[in-house]
Amino acid sequence: MFRPRIGLEIHIRLLTSSKVFCPCPVRYGDEPNSLVCPVCLGYPGSLPVLNGEALRMACLLAHALNCSIAPDLRFDRKHYFYPDMPKNYQITQVSAPLGRDGSLELETGGGKTVSIRQLHLEEDAGKMIHRGNRTLLDYNRAGSPLVEIVTAPELETGEEAELLLRSLRRIVRYLGVCDGNMEEGSMRCDANVSMSPRGVEHSPGAEAPSGDPPGRKVEIKNLNSSRFVRLALDYETSRQREILRRGGRVAGETRLWNEAAGVTEAMRDKGESSDYRNVPETDLPPFPLDPEYLEGVKRQLVELPSPRKRRLVRDYGLSGDAADFLTEEKDVADFFERAAALGADPRTAASWLRSEVRRILNRENLSLGESPLTEKRLVELLGLVREGGIGGGIARKTLEEVFRTGRDPAEIVRERGWEPITRRDALLPVVEKILAAHPKAARELREGKDRALDFLTGMALKETAGRADPGLVKALISDVLKEGRG
Ligand code: ZN
Ligand code: MN
Repeated sequence: MFRPRIGLEIHIRLLTSSKVFCPCPVRYGDEPNSLVCPVCLGYPGSLPVLNGEALRMACLLAHALNCSIAPDLRFDRKHYFYPDMPKNYQITQVSAPLGRDGSLELETGGGKTVSIRQLHLEEDAGKMIHRGNRTLLDYNRAGSPLVEIVTAPELETGEEAELLLRSLRRIVRYLGVCDGNMEEGSMRCDANVSMSPRGVEHSPGAEAPSGDPPGRKVEIKNLNSSRFVRLALDYETSRQREILRRGGRVAGETRLWNEAAGVTEAMRDKGESSDYRNVPETDLPPFPLDPEYLEGVKRQLVELPSPRKRRLVRDYGLSGDAADFLTEEKDVADFFERAAALGADPRTAASWLRSEVRRILNRENLSLGESPLTEKRLVELLGLVREGGIGGGIARKTLEEVFRTGRDPAEIVRERGWEPITRRDALLPVVEKILAAHPKAARELREGKDRALDFLTGMALKETAGRADPGLVKALISDVLKEGRG
């Protein structure tokens, strides 16, 4: 009867080396208040200067999200009084955000596309650290560059919201504009939720249903993991649905997710909504964005995860799951495509990357780029399996050695004496020994129980540490039994 309408406001911390309006470094974990200057501390008379790299990253992200870009760059002062805001205002974009009317395609989820209302550039606040009954202030973060992205309320479930965050996370990481680490605050999310009666649509841009609505907009603040976003929104939508089902009204308010209790809770009542007294930031006069500059930024766009995933499925015959895994990180997808270009069978390469290679990388806490495995080495290893006849067990051991020693697979196999045993005269004694050691299995095989053949072949492989050619072993076992020697 009621349909949830969920919108997200996401703050993305840009990966610039310095702050957005001053040259102070952007770093985390330094001595508190050591990365500050008169500008980011808001001293009277200090003047902000826009960081060109922050602008480039914001424009790149706006392009990637299909936004139309404002002709002029304009900043405003949004006033509020809070100890972590040294100037008592935040420099942000209210009147003319950098990007508008964009869209973001959700990974999986039936290809749903969500509208992006606006995207703007702004500065971060400092950090408050509460110790007992005292509050300490660290301004190292004050003035760090943020991009805020506001979606239209087109999401309906917690799962969709989580999917949107994951899709956005992939994109910002592909573009290299943000590390996407929600737990460390590189992506922070607020959500708004309201209910509309089914069949009644609201024009985009409208706030909560007008008149005397059954469901007003509820905001949920500070959701700092994509899982919390899903859990909090699932809880909140069923809470609101239940109120409406009983004929009640949903109060418009701000709520917080209580992780321990698994519920959203109303924040202390702030009374009237804040008046930010927005005024133009006169210290940063508007300036036109040169179309040639914007074109230049657009040329830096890389192929984004969703289209790349579709292309990997189409061009290499991969499953959706395999393509999804490969496109999670850009360097993995790049590695895969270079290996395929060097002649690796795409499905085999994808499956090794997804299983053995991923397992070792996770265990060693390495990224593919940091590891000694190059695409050339992977291709060589797969070639040893395909043409050189080495078995799966030896191939896995060889991969471990590549990671341990940083040497080439063929060299490792040769030096360790791991080449397959393919000569009859070398394998015959092994087969005879196995048959003698397992008379019961030999008898069963003679009686036509084929399972015994697999068992005996397995024993021969074990005897040779995986080096025996399994096809040859099977042929030899039959030969020996036929000759009546087993
Ligand atoms: Zn500074
Ligand atoms: Mn903001």
